[in-house]
Amino acid sequence: MTPARGFDALILDMDGVLLDTRRSFTLATLLSARACAQRPGLGEEWSAAEVERLRLAGGFNNDWDAAAALCLLGPRSRPGPAWNALCEKLSQGGGGPGAVRALAGDGCWERARLEVEPVFQRLYGGPRAFELYGLEPSEKRGLHEEEAPMVTPAELLEAGLPYGIFTGRTREEAKLGLDRLGLALPPERLVCDSEPRFRKPRPDGLLALAEALGARRPLHVGDTVDDLRSARAAREAGLAVRFAGVAPEGGEAERRLRAEGAEAVRPSLRAVLTWMKEEEP
Ligand SMILES: [Mg+2]
Repeated sequence: MTPARGFDALILDMDGVLLDTRRSFTLATLLSARACAQRPGLGEEWSAAEVERLRLAGGFNNDWDAAAALCLLGPRSRPGPAWNALCEKLSQGGGGPGAVRALAGDGCWERARLEVEPVFQRLYGGPRAFELYGLEPSEKRGLHEEEAPMVTPAELLEAGLPYGIFTGRTREEAKLGLDRLGLALPPERLVCDSEPRFRKPRPDGLLALAEALGARRPLHVGDTVDDLRSARAAREAGLAVRFAGVAPEGGEAERRLRAEGAEAVRPSLRAVLTWMKEEEP
């Protein structure tokens, strides 16, 4: 069946779209930031909501960057309105590590970034920390074991379009995600963080996947402003790609994605696939 909206391929983000990673990457971001934060530290009042608010500032598609930002700036703020205002300030400063450096200084950023990364990786990788990151494992369980598929291989097949995956994961992490999903993808249909040019919000990953898929009008599905901005940059580079967002209904993420031009925002990839088959009004 041909989808009504004229898309000829799907380019999917992995985390938050194909896999629920709230109990893996989001938790690893919070816990590693907490473990490395200097006094007064990040107490129990800090939660996944603050990590998600930080991601909305843009430029934090890399969770190690997000963890360093939270570790560094969290103790200077408080969860809730103060943190939201700080995230807004980061957003206005262009988001990502650059905005954190401008607030906290280059030296502090470098220190925090170096410190959180191995803590994060050991929490996420658990007993597989060595094969994933070359680190001696310290945990009995890895948070990656908590990841849950948000869609089945059969549902992707039923969408009736060729698809590729564009993720900020390393190649090893992406392989872990594909195993969890029960998907096998030819290597040219997977773009991960193997080179700086493939980091969102750069368009290169989308352009490479469109070419591999023979697509001229793909739909990119993502859950962050960085995914959306990749699609916008690819459109500026001449690819007629459109963007649909995945975000809970009525929340700040939905508002943000719509404000930046998402064509549709739905609470799940499943709901996006349904939207895709509806006739355009
Ligand atoms: Mg994502």
